[in-house]
Amino acid sequence: RFKTRFAPSPTGLLHLGNVRTALFNHLLARGRGGAFLLRIEDTDAVRGHDRYAAALQEDLAWLGLAWDEGPDVGGPNGPYAQSQRGELYERYTRVLEARELAYPCFCSEHELKMERKAQLAAGRPPRYSGRCRLLSPAEIEARRARALPATLRFHVADGRTVEFEDGVRGAQRFQTTDIGDFVIRRSDGTPAFFFCNAVDDALMGVTLVVRGDDHLANTPRQILLLEALGLPVPTYAHIPLVVGADGAPLSKRTGSRSLAELRAAGYLPAAIDNYLARLGHTYEEPGLLSHAQLAARFDLARVHHSPARYDETQLLHWQREAVKTLSADAFWRWAGGETQALVPASAHDAFIAAVRPNVLFPVDVARWARVVFGDELALSSGAREAIADAGRSFFEAALPALEEGRASFAAVSGALKIRTGRSGKTLFKPLRAALTGELDGPEMAHLLPLIGYERARARLVRALA
Ligand code: GLU
Repeated sequence: RFKTRFAPSPTGLLHLGNVRTALFNHLLARGRGGAFLLRIEDTDAVRGHDRYAAALQEDLAWLGLAWDEGPDVGGPNGPYAQSQRGELYERYTRVLEARELAYPCFCSEHELKMERKAQLAAGRPPRYSGRCRLLSPAEIEARRARALPATLRFHVADGRTVEFEDGVRGAQRFQTTDIGDFVIRRSDGTPAFFFCNAVDDALMGVTLVVRGDDHLANTPRQILLLEALGLPVPTYAHIPLVVGADGAPLSKRTGSRSLAELRAAGYLPAAIDNYLARLGHTYEEPGLLSHAQLAARFDLARVHHSPARYDETQLLHWQREAVKTLSADAFWRWAGGETQALVPASAHDAFIAAVRPNVLFPVDVARWARVVFGDELALSSGAREAIADAGRSFFEAALPALEEGRASFAAVSGALKIRTGRSGKTLFKPLRAALTGELDGPEMAHLLPLIGYERARARLVRALA
């Protein structure tokens, strides 16, 4: 069965770069009726794993990237956290040892460093010489007796070519001679990351691995390991990383915002979904697509070959599109507590219709709720100026015009036009300024009925002062 996976290392909050990798895998699984699994790669001894593992699951769930196998939901290939799979990794390192494809290496850090230096000086790419492979059983015993720390190295046969077809980058070739014997278990006994990663993909039945191209160099090693173990080799697709405006890959360190932060700011899942699915991948459809539509049309052949650049204005575009599609209930929940407290139930629908084109985030909605229903109207400096420019006589005429037109903005502005002889901007600008405290915003025809006669009157009286 077609199966993809997301295998994050829980060392921090998910940023948009990681989330995009998760999304591409999810879209591929859903688009082909396959399964998507989540595996937590928590083998390195870093603090805070549990917290970050919980946070990333919450983030993925919020975005709608449900996993068919993984922590919580379980599945036939668990456990799904690498910290609980130590025995399996040991079992597979023993298989390699039994087949004499792995051997203990007693070289110290210092010796390895000198070796690399000498190779570089001789103009050769650095790779382990394989020295410890030549140790006799007696020599190995002697070193063990002295309790010398040992790593376990995988023996890479020289002179072979590892070839694979990358789902994004096409045909790939690596020479084993350039790779050299590599460490699969550290001297502290912990297995190397890419060993666990490859073994798990095989044991969990993953058929397609989509991941960042920073892992491309691991792939030939992983293929060699899986072949040596007689385990199935998945297809790999390496996607270019997402870079920031500075050209550096997005990461916590470069200050890129986490998904949790974007969620807290009120970004909608549909906006992030549509933005990320198009970040370095092309759709023909220009409009907002549902997750199912994004999945049905996702195609690795349309993934770009150069790094994708994070662009906030694009994300805002999709946010605007997503806000348009919120149902009244969803809009209300999204708008949050302050708005819910300010807007009377009878005005819900009219308020949403009025402000929807002018809001991107819950803070924007709350601001318009305060403008319309708040007791104290704050005037922006521009509004204050427009009111002063219009002068007392304008507002003296505005009060009877309001009396005539009541909550109909067309009627009020029509009456005021007749009384003052003003039209266009000179009429609308000071009127809007006095009634809303702002120079622009939602249509006055929608706002005035919500502001209502009493409040509007009080605001005009205040403009007179
Ligand atoms: N844990 C690795 C990472 O977060 C996974 C790499 C992979 O997808 O194979 O980078």
